[in-house]
Amino acid sequence: GAQILPLAAHGIRRDQLDDCALKVCETLAASGFKGYVVGGAVRDLLLGTTPKDFDVATDATPEQVRKLFRRSRIIGRRFQIVHVMCGRETIEVTTFRANGQKEAEDEDERPTDEHGRLLSDNVFGSMEDDAARRDFTINALYYDPAREEVHDYFGGVDDCRKRVLRMIGDPETRFREDPVRMLRAARFAAKLDFHIDEATRRPVATLAPLLANIPRARIFDEALKLLLSGHALRGVHQLRAEGLHHGMLPLLDTILDDPTGERFITAALKSTDERIQSDRPSSPAFLFGTLLWPQVVKRWRDLEAAGEKPQPALFLAMDEVLDAQRSQLAIPRRYDGMMKEIWGLQPRFEQRGGQRPFRLLEHPRFRAAYDFLLLRAESGEVPAELGDWWTRFQDADEDTRAGMLIADS
Ligand code: ATP
Ligand code: MG
Repeated sequence: GAQILPLAAHGIRRDQLDDCALKVCETLAASGFKGYVVGGAVRDLLLGTTPKDFDVATDATPEQVRKLFRRSRIIGRRFQIVHVMCGRETIEVTTFRANGQKEAEDEDERPTDEHGRLLSDNVFGSMEDDAARRDFTINALYYDPAREEVHDYFGGVDDCRKRVLRMIGDPETRFREDPVRMLRAARFAAKLDFHIDEATRRPVATLAPLLANIPRARIFDEALKLLLSGHALRGVHQLRAEGLHHGMLPLLDTILDDPTGERFITAALKSTDERIQSDRPSSPAFLFGTLLWPQVVKRWRDLEAAGEKPQPALFLAMDEVLDAQRSQLAIPRRYDGMMKEIWGLQPRFEQRGGQRPFRLLEHPRFRAAYDFLLLRAESGEVPAELGDWWTRFQDADEDTRAGMLIADS
């Protein structure tokens, strides 16, 4: 059973919830259903940070939830959740589910594959079942706004306090059920600056290869969450330390072993983290463009050394790197266009005579390409002077600009 903690033990007040989440819980309760805020939001409130979204768990079925809220719709087929809209916000309402590890007589209905991966998780269950199917203790906390109580089944409040990430149940079994949980462990440890409990960490080294059986799109989603968590630098080092980067960025080893590559990636991830932490947008294409860039440069230099001219060499290198990563990485094709634009503009920053710098300023991707150039300058791939020149040139008046132009040699 759960430990039920009063306000004094957890400190989360009802008015810290957003209005929409509160309203959803109240409406459910008024109709005789349970309604708890659950998961990341409770964890974040406990840690004193502002949740980015609110999820609600209930014993009402999706159909019952939908009928209670005029602006709501059922999402998903395999397991249904309900999106309830208030104003511009959306609250995800999920019916209590069990892990689906029921006895199945039929071979085809076995709940796991030969590696122990859970194939079905769409069985409704009790609130306790729902807590047990979640991944980490800190993600299995339920907050009851009416009574301002936290229901804690697995000691998550304590783990939050100790800053420990601990798997619920037997870690190896839970990682086999869903190998993506290994990536989630790395992500939460980095994002929250938590220590991964030793028993939770231990099986990861041997189980990491199971990620190869997971659909690319899911790996990519989880990787993107890590990279956009505001703690990408720590996250990427965490992935590498646990040997989890092979499915996502197998060349991370090579990149980080080369000093310029390492400096470049570090500068890129740091700048992404800073942007996110100050609520500025960060585009996935830019980010993946930086992760692949050290390889592009290497290939580019090799082709140049073999006698190719700079611009064609770069374009060849770009295509080769994108082709090679396609078979190994989880980066979707839809980012190719923007990555290529950012990369392809790089040599044009070296042309500082005549009309060319002015034309470059007008390019729709100038801003992203310039940010990219600054990372190259910071890592020592191009002279710092080149980055500074463009920084000054952008803001200079016409006369100053005219005086800055450098004739091509
Ligand atoms: P974030 O703030 O980064 O969104 P979160 O805890 O809300 O963190 P989500 O990925 O949004 O993470 O998932 C919501 C909740 O669903 C989690 O807190 C966890 O309880 C549960 N959950 C999500 N993915 C899994 C999984 N693969 N295995 C078990 N439980 C999961
Ligand atoms: Mg969430």
